[in-house]
Amino acid sequence: MKCYAEYGPVPRRRSCKVQVGLVAIGGDAPIVVQSMTNTDTADVPATVQQVAALARAGSEIVRVTVNDAEAAAAVPAIRERLEAMGINVPLVGDFHFNGHRLLTQHPACAEALAKLRINPGNVGRGAKRDEQFATLIEYACRYGKPVRIGVNWGSLDPELLTRMMDENARLPEPQDAAVVTRRALVASALESAQQAESLGLSHDRIVLSCKVSGVQDLIAVYRELAARCDYALHLGLTEAGMGSKGIVASTGALAVLLQEGIGDTIRISLTPEPGGDRTREVVVAQEILQTMGLRSFAPMVIACPGCGRTTSTFFQELADRIQSWLRTQMPLWRGRYPGVENMHVAVMGCVVNGPGESKHANVGISLPGSGENPVAPVYVDGVKTVTLKGDNIAAEFQKIVEHYVVTRYSSQSEKTQQAQPAQDTEHA
Ligand code: SF4
Repeated sequence: MKCYAEYGPVPRRRSCKVQVGLVAIGGDAPIVVQSMTNTDTADVPATVQQVAALARAGSEIVRVTVNDAEAAAAVPAIRERLEAMGINVPLVGDFHFNGHRLLTQHPACAEALAKLRINPGNVGRGAKRDEQFATLIEYACRYGKPVRIGVNWGSLDPELLTRMMDENARLPEPQDAAVVTRRALVASALESAQQAESLGLSHDRIVLSCKVSGVQDLIAVYRELAARCDYALHLGLTEAGMGSKGIVASTGALAVLLQEGIGDTIRISLTPEPGGDRTREVVVAQEILQTMGLRSFAPMVIACPGCGRTTSTFFQELADRIQSWLRTQMPLWRGRYPGVENMHVAVMGCVVNGPGESKHANVGISLPGSGENPVAPVYVDGVKTVTLKGDNIAAEFQKIVEHYVVTRYSSQSEKTQQAQPAQDTEHA
């Protein structure tokens, strides 16, 4: 079985713990997975449905845009309907430009939210900026809500950037503009956090983020941010893109930072394919954390890539079937079978690596490759228990995995009732 214990835990950067509804971010809390809806927030049924889907997929916090009066008015209704469905995932309101006005006109919105996200570059311009920022912080304080000060490369405070560029230009050896921009991102987050504290928001109610779309830029910015403060950090590559590019870029950037202990909550900003499933970003975030050994969410399927030795698509279909089935079982299994999320299942294409990899998994199957005997040995905890053959291999293997889950992860009393001894037999 895969075990990362020998490496010891990845040391986490020391950060201040922030309570967001029932979920803690930072400190000794596990790294939190979050996501954001792409529905019109004013459309209550659609937003409730998507928040519920994201929460069921494993999103521990969900952000919704609050962009106009209709959206602000909808937030309490969304919260109420989710509660009625038994979904208590904390909701975060994303405010830009008019947040001060929306909260003033719809204080129930502030009350229903578990956290406010403020982009310091989109609060206002000139003298109004400070006044409007103060209003947002005042509502956070009044309703006891934490705030994420979320700086973004695409909407960096222009006044701050101009100031820092001018200062840089006066230096005897000016820095590259990209370096100054990265510094401005960090400065914007830290200066805004300081300003929020001076307005009465406590240190343990502030989360920071500085999102950029370049992998190396993100790593550089977060290393600096992490070195200069102990605020909890929300990590994510903004505008990561679609499909494999978005997943690879996000993983490349986040893996480096997470391995350095940087990051208390993550979001993967994938652009869904047209008609695609929004919950994909939640699954990717979980898989990054799980494959790095930082958290466990659902049993993992280990499958070989297949090659000229694989005789048919049966092997890919079985791997896909088992992976999807394991994930759909998790809402039911999570409470009933504690520890099942750490299980590994191997689905391998032939005898070259099949039996070896199967022995390392909790349950493994090695399908027949070309020219091999048409049988599929199954290994349970490293021991060959059964050899499957015939047309029903997929269903029988699924049953073996289910039996393993029930007997291995049930409480002791349930085990006594349900355990059946495994046999080393041939299943026709
Ligand atoms: S285990 Fe067999 S089928 Fe899978 S990649 Fe290796 S050689 Fe190919």
